[in-house]
Amino acid sequence: MDNDGPQPFYFDALSRAERLSHGVFHRQGGSSPAPWDSLNVGLAVGDDAELVAENRRRIKQALGLSALVGARQVHGDRVAVITGDSGVDIDGVDALVTDVPGIGLMIQQADCQAVLIYDPLRPAVGIAHSGWRGSVANIIQRTVAAMGEAYGSDPGAMYAAVSPSLGPCCGEFVNHRAELPEAFRAFQVQSNHFDFWAISRWQLAAAGIRPARICVAGVCTVCDPRFFSYRRDNVTGRNASVIGLRP
Ligand SMILES: [Zn+2]
Repeated sequence: MDNDGPQPFYFDALSRAERLSHGVFHRQGGSSPAPWDSLNVGLAVGDDAELVAENRRRIKQALGLSALVGARQVHGDRVAVITGDSGVDIDGVDALVTDVPGIGLMIQQADCQAVLIYDPLRPAVGIAHSGWRGSVANIIQRTVAAMGEAYGSDPGAMYAAVSPSLGPCCGEFVNHRAELPEAFRAFQVQSNHFDFWAISRWQLAAAGIRPARICVAGVCTVCDPRFFSYRRDNVTGRNASVIGLRP
């Protein structure tokens, strides 16, 4: 256990929004032992549920939010509209949206992307879990559309941020001919390697978000030992990405 407290990665563009609280949390500052050391938020990776609950409590406190709502992610394309504190992770969805102040929307990841979305006008927030299957299903477009349907959010007013995640350096897909659509070939950076950061940038822009309002962390979780990485370690924890409107 370390006592440094949770240490989030922040996006400058989102930090400037006074009504917003967000962060992509590093491994440190939690209570879980190896191989989940230490700020693991995943409940399905073998870690103790009480330690995970303590880790989530620390994250909620660090962000000044009154609740955290997570998802039991399935690499699908369903979006849940959150109207209150569910108390449990929402089953079978990979994106969450809300306009309720104080509720942090949380995605769990170990190399997959969390894509954070902020509409300052309504205001409202959204977050999507986008691994390669999510990219193929275009969960990003579904999330932007869900904010439009639920809140009348205009993509032209939104900000979007792609979390630390699998980089083009480590994004090897040996079965890409079977797994990835033809359109992704434009993002093939070397033999069997794909740039999913660029794919998300492209999908966000196609959903109507201005390119100048899209930021990509550009940090590879496989290369950077501060983050949990499934590709690197196999049995490991899950990093938390959270976005919410301040209470
Ligand atoms: Zn890498």
